[in-house]
Amino acid sequence: MIKIENLRKVYSDNGYEALKSINLEMNEGELVCLLGPSGCGKTTILNLLAGLLDPTSGDIKFDNDSVINKHPKDRNIGLVFQNYALYPHMTVLQNVMFPLTVGKNKVSKQEAETRAKKYMEITNILELADKKPGNMSGGQQQRVAITRALVQNPKVLLLDEPLSNLDARLRLRIREEIRRLVKEIGITTIFVTHDQEEALSISDRIVIMDSGIVQQFDIPQNLYLEPANLFVAKFMGNPIINLFTAEKNGNNLTTKDFSINLNLLTKDRFKGELNKGKYIVGIRPEYFVLSQSPLFNVAIESVELIGKDAILNFNISGEHVKSITDINEKIQENQTVGFDIDYSKIYIFNEDGTRVY
Ligand code: ATP
Repeated sequence: MIKIENLRKVYSDNGYEALKSINLEMNEGELVCLLGPSGCGKTTILNLLAGLLDPTSGDIKFDNDSVINKHPKDRNIGLVFQNYALYPHMTVLQNVMFPLTVGKNKVSKQEAETRAKKYMEITNILELADKKPGNMSGGQQQRVAITRALVQNPKVLLLDEPLSNLDARLRLRIREEIRRLVKEIGITTIFVTHDQEEALSISDRIVIMDSGIVQQFDIPQNLYLEPANLFVAKFMGNPIINLFTAEKNGNNLTTKDFSINLNLLTKDRFKGELNKGKYIVGIRPEYFVLSQSPLFNVAIESVELIGKDAILNFNISGEHVKSITDINEKIQENQTVGFDIDYSKIYIFNEDGTRVY
């Protein structure tokens, strides 16, 4: 189990506070993604876990033992970066064996070879044993890098954007392979990515970060369905959630062109009182529904077909809106359509981004 307690990191060269106060607990064998925009602090956390950086304050525990004062070599961690870092003059087998031939993990050459081959079988690279990295595809090189990390039998596997050098198709395949592999071995894995789809598809749980702060740590579906705040609601989802500024007057939440009757909302989804004032209403594209007794009528500006769905673009309340409809509705450009919304699925945020519904 990994426990991160009040972890703070200020880079001494420029005084930048990259991590504010991070608290996280990850379970044995769990696959956790660190997700967030560039600069939010993902790599800083990974480097602190690996011992490549020292924290300004706070603690990191593996199985209840603090590792803060432990040298990286003594933390029993496998690290894989995006740029493979394989030795070009060595064969695949030699690359994978290497960590077992030096330092405190050193074993006999014969044992190193046996262990290397055992892992190479699991990761499906045995047939590449005699090849040099230069003659292999990116996907194959990444598989070798991961095998080289696993052969040391680490307690924790840390992967920093391991797929970003691969083309889209290969990314998809290798990410499935990584999940299968780490689950098969049962190793606790932390995977850094800025790609929400990648995180959603492989994680047991996801940490979403922004500006050195954990915004939400949850199972993938909750990040989409129950975002903790406006940042998470905006970060998760493609097309992005539609947002409207609104004012509460009496029992209505009024945007420029339409009003939401608060009596229609689901009572137990309220997280607090809605006082008079300004709010931000979030409506995901799929929660606009075509209706015969609509909340508003609009002219559709353009239609984008994506498989079985159609994205309808229109303007309402000063916002450019995307809604998703079944392609069978056969909505055309310039057609006027009536929309209602799914009141049980919308979100309401305070102006500071905290969620109230
Ligand atoms: P990316 O996805 O771009 O790799 P990240 O989420 O991994 O981003 P970090 O690399 O952890 O972000 O960086 C967090 C913040 O700390 C950034 O604003 C970055 O500019 C800053 N930072 C990182 N390394 C240093 C350093 N050595 N000295 C000063 N500031 C740094």
